[in-house]
Amino acid sequence: MHLKIAVLPGDYIGPEVMAAAIPVLESVLKKSGHTLEACRAADAILFGSVGGPKWEKLPPKEQPERASLLPLRKHFRLYANVRPGLLLKNLIDTSPIRPDRIPNGVDMVCIRELTGGLYFGAKSTTTLADGDIEAIDTMVYRKSEIERITDVAIATARARRKQITLVDKANVLETSVLWRRVVSERVKANAPDIALNVMYIDNAAMQLVLKPAQFDVLLTENMFGDILSDEMAVVCGSLGMMASASLGANRNQHGYGYGLYEPSGGTAPDIAGQDKANPCAQILSVALMLRHSFGLEAEAKAIELAVEKTIAEGIRTADIAAGGKAVGTKTMGAAILARL
Ligand code: NAD
Repeated sequence: MHLKIAVLPGDYIGPEVMAAAIPVLESVLKKSGHTLEACRAADAILFGSVGGPKWEKLPPKEQPERASLLPLRKHFRLYANVRPGLLLKNLIDTSPIRPDRIPNGVDMVCIRELTGGLYFGAKSTTTLADGDIEAIDTMVYRKSEIERITDVAIATARARRKQITLVDKANVLETSVLWRRVVSERVKANAPDIALNVMYIDNAAMQLVLKPAQFDVLLTENMFGDILSDEMAVVCGSLGMMASASLGANRNQHGYGYGLYEPSGGTAPDIAGQDKANPCAQILSVALMLRHSFGLEAEAKAIELAVEKTIAEGIRTADIAAGGKAVGTKTMGAAILARL
């Protein structure tokens, strides 16, 4: 397979962790006989985080996140955000959760709807006749939007422990009632092999802290997913370990979903240029890209195993070293490459 990938290294630690991720990508593809081309007309985008103090004085619309990331999401109609919440058994000490609650670590995925709901519905702020001020956000969902993200959750669950937890607020919100109906019908009709649970958002926020290991695939709408996926990231320890994929309606030349793959964290200006950043999130984003945009499951798994092996052998950047001996970005990247 000839893979065309647009590589956008981003700002601050972005280029540092990308420099560790590209050799891993080149090596795994070379070993399995695939070829790689970096180009603009691509099958997928490998993205480094953007933003930082350098641009803080720019008007909000011109700041890197708003001016580059959001237009990319919009342009490519990236409606599904797939965020693995992985806390390796060896890294339990990096989680704020008591170790006895997560003896085997955490291995879950949060699937968040990314282009609908409250963030995209009609908004207004009006001064009323009596001088009071009223602001309105509108939460809108269509059946078709819920169906397509449910399909992403089904495909994800099938490759895992076959369990989806739908998070909603169906006791209060009309949109949640529709979500519950559409997801239940879709799973029943198309995926009888998948177990579907439903949970209210308030309970899910508690359960994620109380018993995070109970979750396999979390499926939820945009705003709930925004909040829950960050809670999940905290439960799973360092942002430096958290990869993410944003998948769209478009297909690439190989027939797989066009996607954007990036670390879940930002550009970490506090540690930039010091060879301290953990490259694992960027490297695990490469694995997600191979899995979702190219169907290369064995290659994706090889990268994930190389990361696990490196960490199991005690080679760790400062964010996951729990105060112990730490290596730099370059050494960590090279160690993962050597274990592929
Ligand atoms: P951040 O995620 O950059 O940093 C939060 C903390 O996590 C910092 O202490 C940082 O050192 C640490 N951290 C993050 N990634 C790490 C890694 N790979 N290895 C080790 N430690 C890591 O969040 P922030 O400081 O709020 O944001 C910094 C900039 O990044 C801002 O300009 C923000 O807008 C931008 N940002 C961009 C994206 C994106 O491009 N998708 C996402 C979030 C934030």
